[in-house]
Amino acid sequence: MSDKYDVVVIGAGPGGYVAAIRAAQLGLKTACVEKWLNKEGKPSYGGTCLNVGCIPSKALLEASHKYAETKHDFADLGIEISDVKMDVKKMVARKNTIVGQLTQGIGGLFKANGVTPLHGTGKVLSGKKVEVTGHDGSVQVVEAENIIIASGSVPVEIPPTPLTEGLIVDSTGALDFEEVPARLGVIGGGVIGLELGSVWQRLGSEVTVLEAQDSFLATTDQEIAKAAKKILTKQGLNIEIGARVTGSEINGNEVVVTYADAKGEQQKTFDKLIVCVGRRPYTEALLANDSGVNLDERGFIYVDDHCRTSVPGVFAIGDVVRGPMLAHKASEEGVMVADIIAGHKAEMNYDVIPGVIYTFPEIASVGKTEEEVKAEGTEYETGTFPFQAIGRAMTNGCTDGMVKIITEKASDRILGMHIIGQNAGEMIHQGVIAMEFGSSAEDLALMCFAHPTLSEAVHEAALAVDGHAIHMPNRKKRK
Ligand code: FAD
Ligand code: AMP
Repeated sequence: MSDKYDVVVIGAGPGGYVAAIRAAQLGLKTACVEKWLNKEGKPSYGGTCLNVGCIPSKALLEASHKYAETKHDFADLGIEISDVKMDVKKMVARKNTIVGQLTQGIGGLFKANGVTPLHGTGKVLSGKKVEVTGHDGSVQVVEAENIIIASGSVPVEIPPTPLTEGLIVDSTGALDFEEVPARLGVIGGGVIGLELGSVWQRLGSEVTVLEAQDSFLATTDQEIAKAAKKILTKQGLNIEIGARVTGSEINGNEVVVTYADAKGEQQKTFDKLIVCVGRRPYTEALLANDSGVNLDERGFIYVDDHCRTSVPGVFAIGDVVRGPMLAHKASEEGVMVADIIAGHKAEMNYDVIPGVIYTFPEIASVGKTEEEVKAEGTEYETGTFPFQAIGRAMTNGCTDGMVKIITEKASDRILGMHIIGQNAGEMIHQGVIAMEFGSSAEDLALMCFAHPTLSEAVHEAALAVDGHAIHMPNRKKRK
């Protein structure tokens, strides 16, 4: 006889584990199937995000930033330190410890909330049944009133650069280099490529980012993207846009990469190459032929605005469905779906999902870009304010960047906020809260912000929307 659950979740990434915990909290009998095994061959929760994504990348970004700051910037503060060294193995070991703590922590949360973990690979059968194949090959079938698919995504591989042990790696491989490569190539100038490129550039690699598109960070507000390219280039990242990688050759311990740009065919030689050309939804062996769950034309599981698939009672969330591939988007969908299953009314506001690129300085945004607003034909206003004119930014030694607010002209309602600057990833939540509450720029402008803080740039950008910024000459006339 098979076990029966109210909810069976497939995948314990930030989508799946959050959905499972929420469902259990709402009194539903819940199981979560997860197949991930860590380097020691032990079951590990947390999916891409905790094992090989958000968390390990940020551990390396923080360590490499502190190293670069100590080496290059402390002298300006009057702090003299000679002979700064980075122990790469120790940095990676610290990252592994953090990953271990967090992934095991999810196991503790499952226990505390009464979620039953099922170790192995889940397959959706017809009739709301899930087949679970254990790591020892044993097979069990569990029945579910509701199924939540949260199987996530995997890195895209491209034919010109097949992964080659120790030389051509994906983002996962780039988290575990044992030494700093002298010449590092990064294919893809997206979020992951820039973050991983920054880590190794700060530690001393000569890094070249090859990006096929003609504009840098094409979906980011272009005023912010231009500023980002200038700042990152000044730091030493060699960013080549309009450079499409077409081939590679292994030559002993080196990789020779061929790419085409405006000048024609080019070649560059690297000691290591990271392929970061995007991620694709992961649905391998997930759906039985008669499961009834449909994919869309790009291979994502097809869902509606409430994450319902084509089969009643079967939901899908996170990277395996449309929308930005972000951990917090996956988690919020998990909460929404658990609430719906428990009989509550639940919605998700897809217009207000923040995104952060954790370079230094950080690049953060929420809502629409100026290009999007313009393309829609909406009449709009913008207000920008540079950190150069912010006292706290000067005392912190980082005056790079700006805050930009975009509003609808007729109503002054905030349509988007974009920040490049130190702590942008924290500050952007002022935009998230303002937008969720339907605030106007004037609402922000009328609030009292603490001095001296970086957030004063948000206040000043809001004031600048109608030409009232205090600490710089306004681009437009006061109304
Ligand atoms: P995943 O986290 O991919 O989890 C899916 C889980 O399902 C996995 O554990 C997998 O083993 C399991 N699974 C799949 N199929 C089956 C099956 N058939 N049976 C059982 N288990 C199965 N996002 C951010 O928001 N912020 C960041 O800073 C950030 N940084 C990133 C850095 C890197 C290097 C990478 C690679 C990604 C980063 N992301 C970041 C993206 C983020 O990791 C994903 O958006 C997020 O993990 C998606 O969550 P998910 O639950 O949908 O899927
Ligand atoms: P993201 O989707 O944000 O992870 O970014 C991936 C980036 O890789 C995109 O900006 C793509 O334009 C870029 N890309 C994809 N294929 C290639 C290629 N063959 N050469 C160079 N860049 C590529």
